[in-house]
Amino acid sequence: MSEKRCVTINPPKMCQPMGAIYAYLGVHACVPLVHGSQGCATYPRYNLCRHFREPAELATSSLTEDAAVYGGRKNLIEAIRNVHARMHPELIGVLTTCLSETIGDDVKSIIRECEEELDGIPVITASTPSYVGTHLTGYDNALKSMLETLAAKGNPNGKINIVTGMINPGDINEIKHILQVMGVSGIFLTDVSQTMNSPIKFPKPHYPEGGTTLAEIGDAVNSLSTITLSAACGTASAKLLERKFNVPAALGAMPIGVKNADAFIQNIARFTGKPIPAELERERGLLLDALVDTHHYLYGKKAAIFGDPDMVAAIVRFCAEAGMKPSAACTATPHPNFAPQIKAVADEYNCKIEILEGSDLFALQEVMKKEPVHVLLGNSKGKDLANDENVPIVRVGFPVYDRVGAFRYPIIGYNGSIYLLDQIVNAILEHKYDQQKLHQ
Ligand code: SF4
Repeated sequence: MSEKRCVTINPPKMCQPMGAIYAYLGVHACVPLVHGSQGCATYPRYNLCRHFREPAELATSSLTEDAAVYGGRKNLIEAIRNVHARMHPELIGVLTTCLSETIGDDVKSIIRECEEELDGIPVITASTPSYVGTHLTGYDNALKSMLETLAAKGNPNGKINIVTGMINPGDINEIKHILQVMGVSGIFLTDVSQTMNSPIKFPKPHYPEGGTTLAEIGDAVNSLSTITLSAACGTASAKLLERKFNVPAALGAMPIGVKNADAFIQNIARFTGKPIPAELERERGLLLDALVDTHHYLYGKKAAIFGDPDMVAAIVRFCAEAGMKPSAACTATPHPNFAPQIKAVADEYNCKIEILEGSDLFALQEVMKKEPVHVLLGNSKGKDLANDENVPIVRVGFPVYDRVGAFRYPIIGYNGSIYLLDQIVNAILEHKYDQQKLHQ
């Protein structure tokens, strides 16, 4: 980001509570409880509802001015009692906000005060102040808290833990497909594939089906290994499992594109000793075929990518695999893996990629003005930038709110990569024909 600026403009990131809520919503019958002002629950709920087109059940301790002076103890105890009495959850996931962290509420001791009234329902606390980290830190913090609280050491279960991070139901279903084809059982930490994409049923179930159960989270300490799909969004949890419970961790590259999907599948094969089945080889072949079929459309085309660091790094590599020239990679979440991953692609494919780390969309636009691109990839926050620069945008990441259904489709694995490839090619073609019409 330019050193001349002392303001951030349109950073592609959200606050820690957003990530913690995402992690809690992937747990069966869990109610996230935002310990803060109402806006801190409304903002994430708004984004979740717009992205998933699904109601997101969140509770709030609803702090106001008096809490800022006297503390939020009274509100939090009342909120926990209300959630327990009215919603009958299996888990209450408390997360803090800027306000409750600044007040300095001792949330753990407040919870201990009312624990006995909860009929054994566990209450987890995640410290998620928004003036440090981003939504990804929040996800990791909430997951780490759940693992610390619910860990139940027992016999080896032969399973693989998958730290999903903030990916879509379509992506989780694709990972489930890969595991199923390989004959491997997984524990998903956590799993929004059904909780945020549920069918309409009458009578309406109290909680949506699916989500990781508390027993599964506890059992994660007995697994063969932990694989994270995003190092920025699972390292603390994976390291905890490794350090405390001897569960080895593989901190992924997100499995988008040929090389990264290969590495993910090889990791599963390595940890479980299972062979890679013909079905996955076939899917890999279909991805290669799709790359060959579209090469003449994509060769030399420039792309700018923004979003979460692991997703951006993986898409940069995939664009290079497709013969494109990724020319700008932008993330607001700094991570030590980000620049090395992008530089590795630049060296391997002999291209120049502008790296914007801890940056924003204003800086990305400056880069795109100097070095115009054929396509932009990122979430809905990039639509104005795409309009300004007259480039097509392929919507990936979270949130996607100006199109429907993005959550349904994977961009992960061989099948997801084929879908993403089709989106990129079709966006470029559609834009080309639109421009031709304009000039007729
Ligand atoms: S006040 Fe802090 S925690 Fe609340 S929505 Fe804003 S950034 Fe997030």
